[in-house]
Amino acid sequence: MGREPASRVEDLELCAHCRGRCCKESPGRFAPSDFEGDQEFDTQKLDALLKEGVASITVGFVSALNSQLAPIFMPKHRGKGKGELEFFCSEVNCDALTKQGCPYPLSERPFECAAIIPSATKCSLPEGLEMEDLWAPYQSILYTLINQYAGHDWVEEFTRQLDDKNGTSPFKREIQGLIKEYGLTTSASEIALIADIARSI
Ligand code: SF4
Ligand code: SF4
Repeated sequence: MGREPASRVEDLELCAHCRGRCCKESPGRFAPSDFEGDQEFDTQKLDALLKEGVASITVGFVSALNSQLAPIFMPKHRGKGKGELEFFCSEVNCDALTKQGCPYPLSERPFECAAIIPSATKCSLPEGLEMEDLWAPYQSILYTLINQYAGHDWVEEFTRQLDDKNGTSPFKREIQGLIKEYGLTTSASEIALIADIARSI
C-alpha cells in the first residue's frame, strides 16, 4: 500500500496567519487509517460520517493499465452545503471551518488535513504520498456506499456527475480534458488490478 507519513505536523502561527486557505480551496481527504477497526476497515464508521453530514465521497484518478484514466473514490470532509456524493467538489469551504480555524484537534482531523506540511511559500503533502494509492484497495467498499446513496450503480452516478453541466469546477474541466485525450475506464476488474499493484508497493 502507498506510504503514509509517520507523524502529523502543525504550525499554528503560520496557519492562523493564512486563515485556512487549504480549507477554503478543498476540504481535506480521509485515509483508510482514519477508519481502522479492531481488525479491518470499519465501513460502519465511514457510513456514519456520511449519514451525519461530516463526510462526502470524492474521486481522484490514476492511470489505468491501458493508459486510460481510472476513477478512485475516497471520502473527504464535507464542503458547505454539499451532499454525500460530491465527486467533483472543489473550491468550496470545508463545512467545519470557523473564524477561529479548524475546530478539530490535530489527532481528529482527516488524514490529509493533519499530514499537510504548512509552509510560508507552498504547503504540501509528504513526498511520495498519493491518496489514490491508499484508497485503491478499498474501491469495492466505496462502490457499495455509492450504489446505496445514489440508489443506482456507481458507474451511472459517476457518468451522471461528470456530464452534469451545473457547477462545473476547474477540477472537472481538467478531468474532462484528460478523458478526451486519454479515454476513461470504469472497468471494475481493471481497477481491482490497480488496487493489487497499490497493495504491493
Ligand atoms: S496548511 Fe498551509 S494553506 Fe493550510 S492553513 Fe496552514 S498555511 Fe494555510
Ligand atoms: S477538517 Fe479542519 S483542517 Fe480539514 S479542511 Fe476542514 S477545517 Fe480545514
